[in-house]
Amino acid sequence: MELTGSSAIVTGGASGIGAAVARALAAQGATVVVADLQADKGEALAAEIGGVFAQVDVTDTDQIAGAVRAAAEIAPLRAVVNSAGIGWAQRTIGRDGQLESAHSLEAFTKVVAINLIGTFDMVRQAATVMSQNEPDEDGCRGAIVNLASVAAFDGQIGQASYSASKGGVVGMTLPVARDLSAAGIRLNTVAPGLIDTPIYGEGEQAEAFKAKLGESVLFPRRLGTGAELASMVIECLTNSYMNGEVVRVDGGIRMP
Ligand code: NAD
Repeated sequence: MELTGSSAIVTGGASGIGAAVARALAAQGATVVVADLQADKGEALAAEIGGVFAQVDVTDTDQIAGAVRAAAEIAPLRAVVNSAGIGWAQRTIGRDGQLESAHSLEAFTKVVAINLIGTFDMVRQAATVMSQNEPDEDGCRGAIVNLASVAAFDGQIGQASYSASKGGVVGMTLPVARDLSAAGIRLNTVAPGLIDTPIYGEGEQAEAFKAKLGESVLFPRRLGTGAELASMVIECLTNSYMNGEVVRVDGGIRMP
């Protein structure tokens, strides 16, 4: 599928994997709406790639609607990537393995609201608009990629909320792809392993933590890069024969 002359939305586009995807989409000729909570980083990236920043909290359905509208006003919306997400290590719950923090209803609800429900809400709203596009020669009107995680298939201490949210993203892949196929829209899920992004925090402690994590990767023994993830996301968006798939990009990692 050709993206030149289209608009695209990347939630969580201000940072990490989303930012790498936004750059890659711009290189494909799409005008990218960087949809994120973080205005400073989002605006800077949008300026760099000739896109537009939209301040969006994916748990707010009206804000998602605004981003979809903004994209469709620029050009036909043909690509959406849901990368907004929060991880278990991100202050929401403790990394101390204590049940009180890891199993708080507040943490579980928040992680699921952003990672799973926010993703579904963008999918359904974007698909409604995409279904109005002129089809290409394959009958394709658009493509969507959701970001899951290898944590959907495995789980670490304190990660119940994260694994459940990403398991939900994996679980909805095939049924939603089946539903959207009728409208000429493909949907795939990319499940990253350990990718070097600000999701692990910043500073000396975070760097030491990431170096240790890299040792658990089968090969190469390091964290992945945003660009390595972005190239798979672009493949899923543009390869006309990719649909309803969950693709791991993880250096062969198997959690101990
Ligand atoms: P990141 O923290 O660098 O970027 C995530 C972005 O999402 C941030 O810019 C943040 O502001 C935004 N965001 C958070 N909550 C939001 C909300 N409510 N509304 C809108 N935007 C919001 O993280 P990343 O590593 O680039 O992660 C991107 C995706 O990939 C996430 O879904 C994450 O769970 C998934 N993932 C990451 C890794 C990894 O190792 N980095 C591994 C597996 C899966």
